[in-house]
Amino acid sequence: MDLNKKEGDYQTLWEGALKQLRSELSEQEFHIWFQQIRYLHSNVHSITISVPSNFYRDQIYHRYLPQIEKYLKEISETDISVNFEIEKASTPSKKRNSKTEAPITDVSHREIVKNTGLNPEYTFENFVMGDNNRFAANAAIAVSHNPGMVYNPCLIYGRVGLGKTHLLQAIGNYILTHAGEKKNKIIYITAENFINGFIQSIQENKTHLFKNKYRTANVLLIDDIHFLQKKHETQEELFHTFNALFELRKQMVFTCDRPISDIKDITERLQNRFTRGLSVDLQPPKTETAIAILQNKSNRLSVNVPEEVITYICQSITTNVRDLEAALTQVVAYSDLINQPISLAIAKQQVSEFFHIPNQKSISIDEIQRAVAEYFNVTISDLKGKRKNKKIILPRQTAMYISYDITETSMTDIGLEFGGRDHTTVVHACQRIKAHIHSDPSYEVIIQNIRKLLNKKS
Ligand code: ADP
Ligand code: MG
Repeated sequence: MDLNKKEGDYQTLWEGALKQLRSELSEQEFHIWFQQIRYLHSNVHSITISVPSNFYRDQIYHRYLPQIEKYLKEISETDISVNFEIEKASTPSKKRNSKTEAPITDVSHREIVKNTGLNPEYTFENFVMGDNNRFAANAAIAVSHNPGMVYNPCLIYGRVGLGKTHLLQAIGNYILTHAGEKKNKIIYITAENFINGFIQSIQENKTHLFKNKYRTANVLLIDDIHFLQKKHETQEELFHTFNALFELRKQMVFTCDRPISDIKDITERLQNRFTRGLSVDLQPPKTETAIAILQNKSNRLSVNVPEEVITYICQSITTNVRDLEAALTQVVAYSDLINQPISLAIAKQQVSEFFHIPNQKSISIDEIQRAVAEYFNVTISDLKGKRKNKKIILPRQTAMYISYDITETSMTDIGLEFGGRDHTTVVHACQRIKAHIHSDPSYEVIIQNIRKLLNKKS
């Protein structure tokens, strides 16, 4: 295949490789691991795909990557590596165009969904209510029944993996299927894409188109607004969009990974706007709700998972719903792989194997910096400072990588913790370390050793 360096070619290449892989796996196995994987972008020698979590990344990396790269090479006749990006939220159109998507029965809904970037699985029907999320879910339902009328804006906040994106998109999906004339301009977008779109419109001298697009929305859903930190021009633009839509009583819903008051470097007037309506928070589910969520999930996957297995997973994993789902997926996939019925023994083994490192989410970046400095025998100010010699760059990048991997801190905040660096530096550091591990797998062992060091200290 002749690669013209066009995005489309690489996407076709990626899909070709997946197709080959698919023919080697059971339908269920393929579905479990690749249903949520999306092609993102590429450059000459690499393709970047998005995965739902670190867990998927590690699994795909170990189980399937060599095979995938082999197929990529066969088809393209050159070496192409695969990079992973953890999905922060959906990447609109590409997401629904992927050939690996789950079947959607309702064709007309699929057409509309294609244009909005909404994932049709994120509905209120698929959202299990419990004490941890009832208030937020009811607010979201109220908003979708009367867009623009009750709580405007509505702000949903909570840590990663607790269902913010699900609820936000459920509002969009509900309005799409129920509110006739309003469905024309429902915009779902991540703050990151909003920022990038705005920057691009400036570069191309098309800000009027950008403004027009958002200021004429009937419903505007913006995911992960914490990414607006430090983005002053975009904040300004959103402030005016907000005012225009608010005047017209158009519904706005935002999500954020922390209370608005904890966002650094955002103008006060925009902060005020975000909290002008109703703010609701999401908490991790308690065991009973977690069990209901996994039962619901296994029904949707059409697999029979014994009750004791679900209970075990829910008692062992208490971080968030995304991790719960990942553990269930792992157990189901592994049983399928070894062709055995799903059992408590398998669950115990798999959960301990893949979550063997105790919950490190509570470890701070400070602690990581200390452990890394100790391990490499450099100082913490070396890690935060500007010196650029080799001896320091690797530890610094490693510390950033571990921070991103095991804490719930955004790249932006990690950058701030490392001497006020830009988030792109963190992105770059993570890529470098991943590439390093890729070319020298023993580096993974080093990372694991540092993580063990962290465990001993905490
Ligand atoms: P966030 O945006 O807060 O990081 P997501 O909305 O992406 O989290 O949720 C992570 C995963 O957990 C998704 O697959 C979502 O469908 C699922 N999930 C979260 N909460 C619930 C719930 N109450 N019921 C069913 N699924 C849930
Ligand atoms: Mg999200």
